[in-house]
Amino acid sequence: MLNKNLQKVLSDISGGNNKGEPITLVGATKFVPVDVINEAISLGLTDIGENKAQEFRDKFPIVSPCNYHFIGTIQTNKIKYLIGKASLIESVSSYAIIDEISRQSVSANVTSNVLLQVNIGNEENKHGFSLEEISVATAYASKMPNVKVLGLMAMLPDSDNEPYLISLCESLRAKYDELKPIYDFKHLSLGMSGDYLLTIKHGSNMIRVGSLIFGSRY
Ligand SMILES: *Cc1c(COP(=O)(O)O)cnc(C)c1O
Repeated sequence: MLNKNLQKVLSDISGGNNKGEPITLVGATKFVPVDVINEAISLGLTDIGENKAQEFRDKFPIVSPCNYHFIGTIQTNKIKYLIGKASLIESVSSYAIIDEISRQSVSANVTSNVLLQVNIGNEENKHGFSLEEISVATAYASKMPNVKVLGLMAMLPDSDNEPYLISLCESLRAKYDELKPIYDFKHLSLGMSGDYLLTIKHGSNMIRVGSLIFGSRY
């Protein structure tokens, strides 16, 4: 089942996005046991993402070599679990978090790759910078020592209003395209199990997929 699910998603994204860019699949592995994660890696999954800092820390030593992302809500007191381990911290959602990642990266003598999270639907229950403030936030983060901003990340609102969702994807992509040449952006992380087929047609080049690959039983 795991292989079939994984190959289905890999095949869906194999043609790249609507901009002709290759798409990176990040397996969202919260609650997924390490032996299952490692099986997925052996079957061709190159990137995984955890969304709880403790789980990230506990699994890190036993997960097979891969690009190990952090995709969850960040508490400043748990940033220490990520520094020097996360290949990409996707969910950087405030100035305080940028400051702390920078401070700890300097003291560990590593560079931390990050994406800045955009609260694209301006939702109360989601973290992130607004689209209006993301240019200023990117300028700020890119000046911080030992922090490298590689792009933007967002989560679409839970809605079946497709034209609205498309307009959100398109405005995020327009902002990404504006900042990309200035900061040498590489990733626009947008799309999960329920919406990646839409987001990759509207500018996303990185998707985070959990339940469709691993099932929802975990
Ligand atoms: C769990 C999770 C996903 C994947 O969600 P699915 O609907 O299971 O594909 C994507 N992004 C984040 C931040 C997550 O926590």
